Amino acid sequence: MSVLNKKTIEDLDVKGKRVLVRCDFNVPIQDGKITSDKRIQESLPTIKYLIENGARVILCSHLGRPKGGEFEAEFSLAPVAARLSELLGKEVKMAKDVVGESAQALSKELQDGDVMLIENVRFEKGETKNDPELSKKFAALADIFVNDAFGSAHRAHSSTAGVADYLPSAVGYLIQKEISFMGQALEAPKRPLVAILGGAKVSDKIGVINNLLEKVDTLIVGGGMAYTFFAAKGYKVGTSICETDKIDLANEMLEKAKARGVKFLLPVDNKVGKEYKPDTESMIVDSDKIPDDYMGLDIGPKTAELFAEAIKGAGTIIWNGPMGVSEWENFAHGTIAVAKAVAESGAISIIGGGDSAAAVQKLGFADKMSHISTGGGASLEFLEGKVLPGIDCIDTK
Ligand code: ADP
Ligand code: MG
Repeated sequence: MSVLNKKTIEDLDVKGKRVLVRCDFNVPIQDGKITSDKRIQESLPTIKYLIENGARVILCSHLGRPKGGEFEAEFSLAPVAARLSELLGKEVKMAKDVVGESAQALSKELQDGDVMLIENVRFEKGETKNDPELSKKFAALADIFVNDAFGSAHRAHSSTAGVADYLPSAVGYLIQKEISFMGQALEAPKRPLVAILGGAKVSDKIGVINNLLEKVDTLIVGGGMAYTFFAAKGYKVGTSICETDKIDLANEMLEKAKARGVKFLLPVDNKVGKEYKPDTESMIVDSDKIPDDYMGLDIGPKTAELFAEAIKGAGTIIWNGPMGVSEWENFAHGTIAVAKAVAESGAISIIGGGDSAAAVQKLGFADKMSHISTGGGASLEFLEGKVLPGIDCIDTK
């Protein structure tokens, strides 16, 4: 199933139409104040396009994890409506409920270019169960459904997927960008396609490794998950993070790479530390010489060079997972070296995963990447080759 032919908002005539837009307004709120409005900012291109094209815009989102079944002030989206009003320079009317009298009345009063926000969709019990009755109520508010919440696209809920059964639909700009970069990279990449995988655990990424091995020309593995592969190759890993119950799987992956002719690169040297601490005593050792009382916390300089060389000629790069404990300066060198190599490669570069995105941002490489995915869990499922219900449900061109 291709994701590359989904309808986008520009494929629809929205003038005078009520458009229900599923956004990701799941922002951090403390004492009623939004502490980061990044997600609201990111939603603006889609909302502005709809306003400028005369749509009657009905926004919706979840926020946190309310119990479901009733209004809870702590999880109200009212602060989001206030912030959006400031950002848009126009009033965003806030409904008192999700699909009740208030939402219905406001939606009927909308004029072309008006914007309203309904309450937290998870106040409705049916939302997370993808209850068709609730989906129909969402659909009754609008003429068109637009999904722009990539971070929730891996969930089959009423407001992310179910509602599309009852309305014409399209994706907004945020999901469109995710699809065009990640979908293209997986379905029709500019080659060579190089994937760089890291992070803590093999068990978190086994689906990603398995799927990418069917697509890539080169697979680079660093970070904590490398040590399970070391164990599979018979190396001693000291006190490194290592999942002994995944060693067989690691071997299977190495075999699969061989069978498919995928170049599989593992670290040849490592920065190892005595303890899991930022300022622990550390040294560089070859991969087959990790002392019993040390743990691998970063790739070593020879590995950084080896990886950089493989990254250099790439046409497309998919990167998920830091090369070491990049939160700590002393063990961030490998991640920085790889980020530099990716930035300088001239390849289409895609960063997926929450911690990877944060690392690239913190280390100052964000503007050098072609695309940084906005959804941690959703981007991982995408890379695993899973069908995302929030994208799958959208009409094709
Ligand atoms: P993402 O969120 O991008 O998918 P992960 O959550 O899989 O990435 O991995 C990020 C975490 O992996 C970071 O907290 C980092 O400290 C940790 N990590 C990376 N390398 C190691 C290592 N060698 N030992 C222990 N933890 C590691
Ligand atoms: Mg993570």
